[in-house]
Amino acid sequence: MAIGRVLYEHQLFKEALVSFKRACELQPVDVRPHFRAGNCLYVLGRYKEAKDEFLLALEAAEAGGNQWAYLLPQIYVNLGIALEGEGMVLSACEYYREAAILCPTHFRALKLLGSALFGVGEYRAAVKALEEAIFMKPDYADAHCDLASALHAMGDDDKAIVIFQKAIDLKPGHVDALYNLGGLYMDAGRFPRASEMYTRVLAVWPNHWRAQLNKAVSLLGARETEEAKKALKEALKMTNRVELHDAIAHLKQLQKKKVKGNGGANGEGSFVVVEPTKFKTVGEKTTLRQDLANALEIRAFQRITRLSRCDVELLKKEMNDGEVPVSYSGTGVPQRSIRKPNLEEILRRLLDFLKPETFQGAVKAINERILTVFDDTGSGRVDLGMFFAVLAPICNGPPEKRKRVAFDALLWRPVNEGGGAQIRKADATRYIKLLRAIYVPSHGVKSSFVMFDDADWGFGIMSTLLKLETGDRNRHGNRVCSVCRYPIIGSRFKEIKSHFSLCNQCYSEGKVPPAHKQEEYKFREYGSEAEAMKDKCKCFTLQSHSDP
Ligand SMILES: [Zn+2]
Repeated sequence: MAIGRVLYEHQLFKEALVSFKRACELQPVDVRPHFRAGNCLYVLGRYKEAKDEFLLALEAAEAGGNQWAYLLPQIYVNLGIALEGEGMVLSACEYYREAAILCPTHFRALKLLGSALFGVGEYRAAVKALEEAIFMKPDYADAHCDLASALHAMGDDDKAIVIFQKAIDLKPGHVDALYNLGGLYMDAGRFPRASEMYTRVLAVWPNHWRAQLNKAVSLLGARETEEAKKALKEALKMTNRVELHDAIAHLKQLQKKKVKGNGGANGEGSFVVVEPTKFKTVGEKTTLRQDLANALEIRAFQRITRLSRCDVELLKKEMNDGEVPVSYSGTGVPQRSIRKPNLEEILRRLLDFLKPETFQGAVKAINERILTVFDDTGSGRVDLGMFFAVLAPICNGPPEKRKRVAFDALLWRPVNEGGGAQIRKADATRYIKLLRAIYVPSHGVKSSFVMFDDADWGFGIMSTLLKLETGDRNRHGNRVCSVCRYPIIGSRFKEIKSHFSLCNQCYSEGKVPPAHKQEEYKFREYGSEAEAMKDKCKCFTLQSHSDP
């Protein structure tokens, strides 16, 4: 042990680890060697092993009674940090919370809890934890910085600016606070202040190319064109990333537009938005505008969570293999309900191909979109059968299989056990309600009711989603959208009178080129140019037949 500690202090972590491991063997009931071995593993970037070692320390501490009580909060905190290293932020929150309960003055545990909650999108709870941390340690710069970020995420930018400023007062070289404050000033149109912040970031961290780029943009906003050009050149010296070239192209576009505006053009934008009732469809296969808007949103969610790469069969496997703790809800009806951190472990298995940061992003999206709807009482528990049923339609697999798994998940709920192959009506109703609340939240009750009240039993939106999934790589020669000017990918929506074409996004948003003002617009959807070709030929044959 003593040797290990000396080695650790001299940053010889690999060597220290060997000593601590040996100590673990000699004194298996001692907490400290496990704890220290865990720290070594964490520093070496071996998060999973670190976590296992901390869990052993925890086990030993609980078995050893009071003598280790003083170490428990620290074990919980380090366990949480190791879990965050693996991308398991919901689980990390659990342990930070434990530490804060055991030791209410542990301001670092509260700060870590707040930052982790921020990372999974639970902003209100994050603000509470961070405010408590600051209450205990008023000069805690990092806690101020994260608090300001959470406030910004909740839309309270005025307060966020004050708190970021406080973080900078406490620690003048706080790069994150300076950089984020620069962004807020830019959003507020206070460009000289923004460029000042970026200059200060660069003083601490001269190679921060994003700060350099943003400095250029804010100088441009402040109409210091020459300075802006200089800053851009500096940014180009730092990196050759595509983002930078995209940003420059975008800036040039903006300048061009401005020139055009000054030159006395007709003053209209490059599109007008038409109200939904004026969009009509031609042909049975043409997707309705509202359906497409909904499906595009679901598709975006599928992409952030990477669930489109998760085989739906894996859900089935979880149901068959997993041992889920059954709990009883207030009314006494048994449910297979599960706590959020355990749910995160299941998600980790389903999405085991993701890197920790990407996985954390997926959990954040699922937490914000699905779990908040499920756990509206804030109990921290989720009905697992329902959860699988909601997930299944957006996983990877043939549509019939996705529906089958959703159906099985509803049957899998214990209330249905022994009840044969029938889903209770109450469950079906609740399921459809959840689907609506999660996947089409922004639309009125009436329209979504129609959408889900079809013969397809709640999956009306799925056919449109499938079209998007398969059309991702369809190009249409070098056809571009008449509104956004990007090449059309997926379906092409052609207006049959004026012959302009729209991409998925512009069609779903109801944008049309201003040159074509019409009472109403009729669109036909083409999945590919081959389809469009066939359609043209059909027109010709019809015409020739009708000719006398
Ligand atoms: Zn477009």
